[in-house]
Amino acid sequence: NLSEKLQNVFKNLRGKGRLSEADVKAALKEVKMALLEADVNFKVVKNFIKSVEERAIGQDVMSSLTPGQMVIKIVNEEMVKLMGDQTTEIALKSGNEITVIMMCGLQGAGKTTTTAKIAGKLKSKGKKPLLVACDIYRPAAIKQLQVNGEKQGVNVFSMGDGHKPVNIAKAAIEHAAKNGFNVVILDTAGRLHIDEEMMEELIEIKTNVEIHQAILVVDAMTGQDAVNVSEMFNEKIGIDGVILTKLDGDTRGGAALSIRAVTGRPILYVGMGEKLSDLEQFYPDRMASRILGMGDILTLIDKAQAEIDEDKAKELEKKMRKAEFDFNDFLDQMQQIKKMGGLTDILSMMPGVGSQLKNVDIDENAMSGVEAIIYSMTKEERSNPNILNPSRKKRIAAGAGVDISEVNKLVKQFENSRKMMKQMSGMMSGKGKKRGGF
Ligand code: GDP
Ligand code: MG
Repeated sequence: NLSEKLQNVFKNLRGKGRLSEADVKAALKEVKMALLEADVNFKVVKNFIKSVEERAIGQDVMSSLTPGQMVIKIVNEEMVKLMGDQTTEIALKSGNEITVIMMCGLQGAGKTTTTAKIAGKLKSKGKKPLLVACDIYRPAAIKQLQVNGEKQGVNVFSMGDGHKPVNIAKAAIEHAAKNGFNVVILDTAGRLHIDEEMMEELIEIKTNVEIHQAILVVDAMTGQDAVNVSEMFNEKIGIDGVILTKLDGDTRGGAALSIRAVTGRPILYVGMGEKLSDLEQFYPDRMASRILGMGDILTLIDKAQAEIDEDKAKELEKKMRKAEFDFNDFLDQMQQIKKMGGLTDILSMMPGVGSQLKNVDIDENAMSGVEAIIYSMTKEERSNPNILNPSRKKRIAAGAGVDISEVNKLVKQFENSRKMMKQMSGMMSGKGKKRGGF
């Protein structure tokens, strides 16, 4: 699947020290293939690759990231942009003014199920939805809506199969106005394929009834067909948003990536299963992470980027080489780690580590103990730990509210790590800067 393929592409980039134009081009060629195989629309892929390439080539790799991570970062950001940057809500009228929503889409896409799912969401928001059975072609369809409506505890309006859908819709809105319902959702009939009759029926409803939101329901598993269907519906009927169903069964993510780019209409919700509770708000950033399949590496990249001051990092590296590293730097580093969410958080975001960490208890409190000790030192003591004699240590222990043995332990650990740094910097000197991957 797409995630696995992309992960392979980026694995090859990981070991390298610097990202060249050739590297970017080679990686993006693979990304392109992977996207096409994932059934992403060809035009969308072309534009996508172009914009990633433009950004990636000639951009410095942030010092806190590996080249592979840097490319992932850009690919991810462009994917989010493609899907619309932010979450879009179904626009509802305020108070008791009635919002009329028309659900449309091909047969089997999930209209009836989704109608009931949305009703549940609206109900929990304090709205009073009325579901309307406008699918008069399949007798079972009316029953299905009634059964689902009952499960959700919402009312269903139906007039059997002896009336035109447009007239059922009109009658339903009147019924809603009289009985205090403030959202009317029309569950219309689909066809197996796009056909004139279906389109005309929907257009007839839309021209004779005031529809506030026309929502298209498409099946994610149909890939590019879902995108084509969206384009057709938008051209003929005009849609306000899309709900992508059966995402639980779609491993490729092609439709999710293309719909917004092709139609200009946002994805509102995604169906994640057959149960009526399986409807989720659509978050472009989460979808991009899911398609990239990078676990929470993306979150890690974000955090690293937001919190690590590059200059500070460089300065620290210099100090480490010269073994000038002191307690001030130590404190700085601990604060960086804290800003990133603590050690447990950072470790659990590393791929493959997360699950193994479940039963490990990292003592984050030990960190604040260490902090307290350092805070009890004078400025001079922090920058020149060599002057820490017993009487100073005793004073520091009292200030931090710990036993003097804790202070001794910390000073000893600190001296050891300085020694180690000295040895390491001896080994590193002469070599260029090298960044490790994950
Ligand atoms: P309609 O013809 O458009 O009204 O489609 P239905 O609502 O009758 O749904 C068709 C089938 O798709 C049913 O078996 C639903 O249970 C199933 N379905 C709908 N949404 C989802 C979803 O998000 N995930 C899964 N796995 N199945 C879904
Ligand atoms: Mg139906």
